[in-house]
Amino acid sequence: MKQVYTFGNYLKDKFGCKVYKVGINISGFTCPNIDGTVAKGGCTFCENDSFSASTGQTQELKGFYLNLSSKTNPNLDKQLAQLEIQFNAISKRQRQEYGAKKFLVYFQSFTNTYAPFETLKALYDKALSFDNVIGLSIGTRSDSITDETLDYLAEINLKKEIWIEFGIQSVYDETLQKINRGHDSANVKEWILKAKNKGLHVC
Ligand code: SF4
Repeated sequence: MKQVYTFGNYLKDKFGCKVYKVGINISGFTCPNIDGTVAKGGCTFCENDSFSASTGQTQELKGFYLNLSSKTNPNLDKQLAQLEIQFNAISKRQRQEYGAKKFLVYFQSFTNTYAPFETLKALYDKALSFDNVIGLSIGTRSDSITDETLDYLAEINLKKEIWIEFGIQSVYDETLQKINRGHDSANVKEWILKAKNKGLHVC
């Protein structure tokens, strides 16, 4: 039987041990397909609560949302603190239960490039500063990432493992319409090629 070279095996070969994903959910992040910029209601299957980390969530940041046009972010310090709380709690559990030694910080919930560049840079830099973090995996949409962010990620990709997870869902426009994805396949192709041309890992 033909063996599949999994992402887990790739990381294990490259870093010498199993790498654990630490799923992060930062308050203030939303999605243009939810906040009305592209559409409201989101993709038909969208249920972020079902997979998002609840650690470090505060009522204080309820109703606070960023987008690509936000000029300021009064809650950046709180978001950075949240990131640290979540990373510490989840990685501690993975260390205790599985003997985890290395980690990939996974910005998982909602659209994790849908915020002003300075906010993204601060969060990515902080995540990469934690002990034994080998890189980042960033979940996003192809219509919600900028050239500035891609350029920065390409720069840090020279030293760390950076993956951009474009939630493609389908290459068929008819399907994308049916699931209320809010962008077409041409947009996906355009931004995947841009990311690849800058040397980034895309999945
Ligand atoms: S792109 Fe992601 S966060 Fe946005 S509506 Fe679709 S599934 Fe939900």
